[in-house]
Amino acid sequence: MGMEHKLVALNTYKLIEPGPAGRVNMYLLLGKEKALLIDSGYGKADLRKTVESITDLPVILYNTHGHLDHALGSFAFDAYLRKEDEGIYLSATEPQYGIPRAKMKQLPLGELDLGGRKVLVLLTPGHTKGSICVLDPVTKMAFVGDTINPGEVWLGLSESTGVREYLQSLLTLQKECENFGITSLQSGHSAKPMNMNKLANLIHLSRNILLGKTRGQEVHEGLCQGYRARYKYNCLIYREL
Ligand SMILES: [Zn+2]
Repeated sequence: MGMEHKLVALNTYKLIEPGPAGRVNMYLLLGKEKALLIDSGYGKADLRKTVESITDLPVILYNTHGHLDHALGSFAFDAYLRKEDEGIYLSATEPQYGIPRAKMKQLPLGELDLGGRKVLVLLTPGHTKGSICVLDPVTKMAFVGDTINPGEVWLGLSESTGVREYLQSLLTLQKECENFGITSLQSGHSAKPMNMNKLANLIHLSRNILLGKTRGQEVHEGLCQGYRARYKYNCLIYREL
């Protein structure tokens, strides 16, 4: 099965895979020497073929986190994931599920040079403990996986951190986005990019939860449980402070 893809900025592509938990977005950033693929989707669509139709550069894959809708296509690539999320990936690729398992390498943080294009990789624990974001000063975009999503941000999974640690991640992300002049956030599931107000609003909401000014309503159903709190159009589901 092929995959929809489109050019979203110079040498930057968005790849979209439909799936059981909704659409998932992947991004392909081309440098002069290599290409960086951010996330690998459900592993059902022919991602390798789509990537090769765009570039013949060597490709490295950085998974933003270990969840099955982001990392299951890893087997076709030179794949990296933070060690903190390895358990999540391994349980999603148990042999009975029939998805080939990649030999994941530890994902390095800091600067990554693609040849004439340097990106910055940040560890941003929250949604999962091994979540990362990638900042690209060329396109002024940050690729944020599920750390920030337009609908609900899920910190209510057993593998999530509490609100306090998530807030620290958002503050680090905000500081580096300001340093790099980042103007838009590209997430794992949104149809459109988000602007920097989204990040500021989630910081405000997280602070209010920690200060006791906002108290979430209890959520019992589904995988993501705990409390649902809102500020304007922003929503966070969390288990712990
Ligand atoms: Zn996720």
